[in-house]
This record gives sequence, structure tokens and C-alpha cells, in this order.
Amino acid sequence: MKMFENIPKELTNVVVTGKSGAGKQPRIDVLVSEFQLEQLSTGNIFRTYLGKFNEFGYDDDLGIFWDEEEDSFVSDDEISKILETTDPDIILGMKAKYFVDRGLFVPDYITNELFKGFFSQRNFRGQVLDGYPRTLSQAKFLLELLEENKSDIDFILWVENEDNMIIERTINRRICPECGKVYHLIYAPPNDGKCKVCDTEVIQRSDDTEEKIRSRLKEFSEKVIPAMEFMEEQGVSIAKVPGHLEEFTPENVRKSVLGAINEIYK
Ligand SMILES: [Zn+2]
Repeated sequence: MKMFENIPKELTNVVVTGKSGAGKQPRIDVLVSEFQLEQLSTGNIFRTYLGKFNEFGYDDDLGIFWDEEEDSFVSDDEISKILETTDPDIILGMKAKYFVDRGLFVPDYITNELFKGFFSQRNFRGQVLDGYPRTLSQAKFLLELLEENKSDIDFILWVENEDNMIIERTINRRICPECGKVYHLIYAPPNDGKCKVCDTEVIQRSDDTEEKIRSRLKEFSEKVIPAMEFMEEQGVSIAKVPGHLEEFTPENVRKSVLGAINEIYK
């Protein structure tokens, strides 16, 4: 691998960022396979904790755990008593479910707590962080957590893409609700509105409307960019890669990612 000779053989942790729909996943795949890292995505963290809590089987209203006057959860001891468990994963799962059930924005301190629980089980190492940090306070929390645990972020991989390209790609996206295959109305159209694999009618995800994409793009500029800039100020290097390649092949994606990383180690 002489071409990319500057890159260290082993990495500790990498943060991957980019606008929603920029094309992060194929780049994450490269990091995972080249450096034996594991993908740690916030979506997966939430699903895991929610799953554990659902399995635990507490069906009463979760409002009992929220102290309206204090505008926060009651103490963990009290939660533990009501749920009749001391398992921290179940307590975290309840907190996540409280916000998700109500369709509320999950506050940073909860996301941080969930993230920390998951990350600690992986010894704060060997992860590609995907979807975290997304705010300045999450970025601060992350850097402190790494310092406390003598771990590190090697660099941020930033997948760049133009707004109009993301919008065009997303509003034309259709998925098969049965097998999950993804289509694009112009570049990879389904067969007369039906999935080529299983013949099910394809659908547009409710998140894929122009209005929702624009709001995600706005959130990226207002919240994620300041978080990344803060990390850079604190000494974390940023490797930028294009989300759009003239010829999109696995080998080109790989070269583009490794080339950008190689540059920061020069
Ligand atoms: Zn299908």
C-alpha cells in the first residue's frame, strides 16, 4: 500500500461527518474494512437502548419518571425503585423512550449519556463515530470523555456534497418496503413503480421530502459545523472527501478516502 504510506496502521477512533444524504456510508465502509474499526451510529444506539427497555416490558406511562417542577427526570435511585431494577441500560432505555414516545427533541445530555454507555462498552476505542457529535456541547462532552479515558480521535472524515445534489438525490429516492432495496427515479428506476427484486410497490420515505431535507441541511450548518470547527480548534485534523465521484466504484471510493487521510499525515 505504498501509495498511502503516511497512514498509521492502527487508528483509535474516527469521526465521520457530512450533510444528511452526502454519501457517508460508503466512506464508513472503507474505514471499517481498512482499519478493522466498528461503526457506532447514534441511530443504532437509540434502537439498542429502546429495544432493551421494550424487552424489559414496562408498559405504564413514563410520565411518572419526569419531574415537571425540576424539568428533569427524577433521580436514578427513584427510577430504579419504580422499575425494580438497577440495570443502567434499562434506566437509559427508559429515558430514551420517554423522548421518542412523545416525539420530543432528545436533549444533548441524554444523547451524551446514551453515547457514553455504548462507547464505554467498547473501551472508548476502535469506533467510527457516525452521527455523533452533532452539536457543540456533544463535541465538548466527547473530547472530555476521551481525555478521561486516555483515548483519542485520530481525525474527522468530512464527506462534502452540494445542497442541490443532495436534494435531487433524496427527493427521487424510493425504497421497497418489503426488501429494503433503494431506487432512484432517474438513475436507477424501479420497474413501473415496483421493486425489481420482489415486485412490491416502492414508496417514498416520509423523511425524503424537500422540506425535511432543507431542515436537515439547515441543522447541519447551524449545529454540526460549529461542533466540527470546535474539534479542529482543539487539534483534531479534518480530512475532506468528495461525496460525489465522477465514476462511483468501490475502488475509487477507497482511493479517495485513503488519499485524503494520507494528506493529513504528511
Ligand atoms: Zn423489494
